[in-house]
Amino acid sequence: MPKQTIANTDVASKRVLVRVDFNVPLDNGAISDDRRIRAALPTIKSIADRGGRAVLMSHLGRPGGEGYEAGSSLEPVAKRLGELLDQPVLFPSQDCTDDAAAGAINAMADGQVLLLENLRFHAGEKSGDAAFADRLASYAEVYVNDAFGTCHRTDASMLAVPQRMGDGARVVGFLVEKEIKYLSEAIASPAKPFTIVLGGAKVSDKLPAIENLLPKADHIVIGGAMAYTFLKALGHNVGSSRVEEDRIKEAKHIIALAGESKVDLHLPIDHVCSTQFTENAGDLEEFEDHIKDGYMGLDIGPKSRLRFTQAIKGSKTVVWNGPMGVFEWRPFRMGTRIIAEAIADATDAGCTSVVGGGDSAAAAETFGVASRLSHVSTGGGASLAMLEGKPFEAVELLDDA
Ligand code: AMP
Repeated sequence: MPKQTIANTDVASKRVLVRVDFNVPLDNGAISDDRRIRAALPTIKSIADRGGRAVLMSHLGRPGGEGYEAGSSLEPVAKRLGELLDQPVLFPSQDCTDDAAAGAINAMADGQVLLLENLRFHAGEKSGDAAFADRLASYAEVYVNDAFGTCHRTDASMLAVPQRMGDGARVVGFLVEKEIKYLSEAIASPAKPFTIVLGGAKVSDKLPAIENLLPKADHIVIGGAMAYTFLKALGHNVGSSRVEEDRIKEAKHIIALAGESKVDLHLPIDHVCSTQFTENAGDLEEFEDHIKDGYMGLDIGPKSRLRFTQAIKGSKTVVWNGPMGVFEWRPFRMGTRIIAEAIADATDAGCTSVVGGGDSAAAAETFGVASRLSHVSTGGGASLAMLEGKPFEAVELLDDA
């Protein structure tokens, strides 16, 4: 069911409470990646340009829930947001519920933007506390959910706050609208051939998404550490590669399902291996098929890159989640790089490409292809939950269009 959007909502002279996801990585207090802040700009600008008063709220990190902690303050985010908007962002207090915060909101002028301090300084954010939600809901006339990275959660600001704000004033922002368009609608009836590219460390995280997408897919490409659980299930020697022994049964089930549904399941046929899980110290060797004991697979080899690229090349829809190897380390980044470039090339040729957040988004940025992809999600866990086909309560409760 399509939801009411911020574009169609009257905001002039209204206080608009926007749940954003400004959970950005901090390195010694400096923001090392501001993608999530930039992703929220269209909604914030649209409110300010139309004379609305944008009151932004977010969490950052995992503070203890017992009050202010300098290391998790959103103050650097307020500063960065001000630079990106080219207007000052009000940041009134160290507590999102105190009188200074409420007073500053009441004193806002049309077009101003204010950021509340970290919601998770209150335990009530995670527990969905009623009094906490009442206080936040009292700040505004309109509620906007533009926090895609948090949409799979049930925190107070995602559920209890909009539940209190009543019909006619609860809408999605531009970011959430775009994420749903690509991660749900584009995949509900994908243009074919449809290729799913999965990698990363944990096979267990990705099994529900594979099961959900498999009936629609033409190709499933599996690289990264998760491939070794599948290869072991097929009886290959994987040396000391990372394997989730307790998921071998499920891997066998997926292999059987792929066979029944005539999906081409592509696993690595060669491997870049090392004797140690470090960037520089171990002995490096490439193996085809079986990996020698004492070695672990840390990237897909050249033949696998070629085979995976061929599967991606003719696709009309590609979903990518998870790197093909330990791309953070120079000796093991080529597989992920070639696959990222292959997806970008396919997109240039008319394919719709959707990249799940987290490591694959970071890899797409590192290899300079992010801007050539159709959509790079801002949500890691949320994008995976959407690929699993899970309904998001935080979106469902918003007003229908
Ligand atoms: P995930 O969060 O499950 O998507 O995993 C991402 C992480 O998987 C990245 O940090 C990669 O370094 C890591 N990774 C990818 N391939 C391998 C591999 N073959 N062995 C160990 N770790 C890997």
